Amino acid sequence: MNATQAQELLSRLGIDAVNAGAWIGTRALPMIAGAAEVESVDPTTGRALARMSMTDVAQLDQVVQAAQDAFARWRTVPAPKRGEVVRLMGEKLRAHKDDLGRLVTLEVGKTLSEGLGEVQESIDMADLAVGMSRQLFGLSMHSERASHRMYEQWQPLGPVGIITAFNFPNAVWAWNAMVALIAGDPCIWKPSLKAPLTALATHKLLSEVAEDAGFPGLLGLVVGADADVGEAMIHDGRLPLISATGSVRMGRHVNQAVAARLGRCLLELGGNNAIIVDESADLELALRGIAFGACGTAGQRCTSTRRLMLHESIAEPFIERLVKVYQGLPIGDPMDGSKLIGPLIDQLAVDQYLHACDQIRAQGGEILTGGKAVAGPGFFVEPTLVRARHDMPIVHEETFAPILYVMTWSRLEDAIAWNNEVPQGLSSAIFTDSFRHSERFLSPSGSDCGIANVNIGTSGAEIGGAFGGEKETGGGREAGSDSWKAYMRRQTCTLNWGTDLPLAQGVTFDV
Ligand code: NAD
Repeated sequence: MNATQAQELLSRLGIDAVNAGAWIGTRALPMIAGAAEVESVDPTTGRALARMSMTDVAQLDQVVQAAQDAFARWRTVPAPKRGEVVRLMGEKLRAHKDDLGRLVTLEVGKTLSEGLGEVQESIDMADLAVGMSRQLFGLSMHSERASHRMYEQWQPLGPVGIITAFNFPNAVWAWNAMVALIAGDPCIWKPSLKAPLTALATHKLLSEVAEDAGFPGLLGLVVGADADVGEAMIHDGRLPLISATGSVRMGRHVNQAVAARLGRCLLELGGNNAIIVDESADLELALRGIAFGACGTAGQRCTSTRRLMLHESIAEPFIERLVKVYQGLPIGDPMDGSKLIGPLIDQLAVDQYLHACDQIRAQGGEILTGGKAVAGPGFFVEPTLVRARHDMPIVHEETFAPILYVMTWSRLEDAIAWNNEVPQGLSSAIFTDSFRHSERFLSPSGSDCGIANVNIGTSGAEIGGAFGGEKETGGGREAGSDSWKAYMRRQTCTLNWGTDLPLAQGVTFDV
């Protein structure tokens, strides 16, 4: 996309030369004179796309206050009616899917198919949340006391602080916000400073829907620095839930800050995901699953495949094929439909990739293909395949780039142990036609990850299931299934319709 086309796209989405970084619904808070600005950069060209003025702590306070005011009314709206507003948000996303998807591609460099897919994921989340709004079920239970009834109900929690990673600049927010909204909670979004434009465009579009429904303060946006606005947000006792998606380093810090005020945290952090391929596997399927998992989004998904464990009997010819596939992957402008590998997000990511390649060599790994940055402009690197040992320290780290470590095994027990030995626990997969191996992988002593797939790669989860991972991935669950419970408070109610007041456990207290 050339500079003029990019400018046209931004103006269609309402993004001017310098946009405000603090918003209460469709209302931009006045820009502060001399405020720092954040520049969004197109990672494909390295050129600046637009600037936004940064939010400060005083503006965050106003946004939180507006969310509290909105909460006082929004929580009284029946959940299915809240679902109706979310349905209209889904319609708005549908109407702007093409422009928003292009903006995602422009700002973070994923292929256009993936940029559009990301917005589709947000639309799917809206649809799912509409259904959920009629299914916020509580249990009822039998009381031990005569003429008593007990049940649980789920109440709205309060304004939710949503911190998002750069790599899903639209959908990570939607995983949270669509569900939080039907649960009765206003949302305050602090996006990554590496992808503020997508956040601004999404926020503006959906705030129009909230405003038309009579709830201008339902959505807030704060584009601010971690050190002041981020810190103020996570320490703010008016936000009962902070949902944070990003690195383990960030999640560890946010978790401690929120725990110190006894708030709730929902964490979606880094992954280090493995695919096991056994001797019975359909290798054509495996090859496609591995290539997309390891190289899709240039390895910048939390669920990207980072480790590949091949049975020794199939390993060598399969590695040869993989090398050929890797060397044929088209790298280039992600707007161009013929390219499969876009850029990394910025120069820092390229430097981290190059550092990891140095570590691989120093730790005895063999780079079979890749291992280099591609000459500029833009932040492109070669997809990289490494023959590695499972216990190399670098293999246990998440490098957010297309690096795949390959190792071989002879006993499935070892492959499963290696799958589980890293600190992260997000996604995992086995390719097998063996019923026994598949069930072994899915058994209580199999994969320890939040996602365990058979004959499907590690990335590309559907929204209907609960999404998230264990250990250092943070333990949170978002999107489908009963994830809505994270955004609500549980209330146990006991009703006495009799004429006596029996105490539980047979206790007597006669006055
Ligand atoms: P990051 O941790 O650098 O930043 C994530 C967000 O945290 C950003 O909005 C950032 O501004 C914010 N942040 C950082 N310090 C903060 C503080 N002190 N207070 C408040 N906010 C703070 O991550 P990133 O580079 O944007 O994203 C890549 C990482 O995200 C990878 O580790 C990836 O695996 C992970 N990720 C996880 C999931 C998941 O669902 N598990 C999804 C997407 C990305």
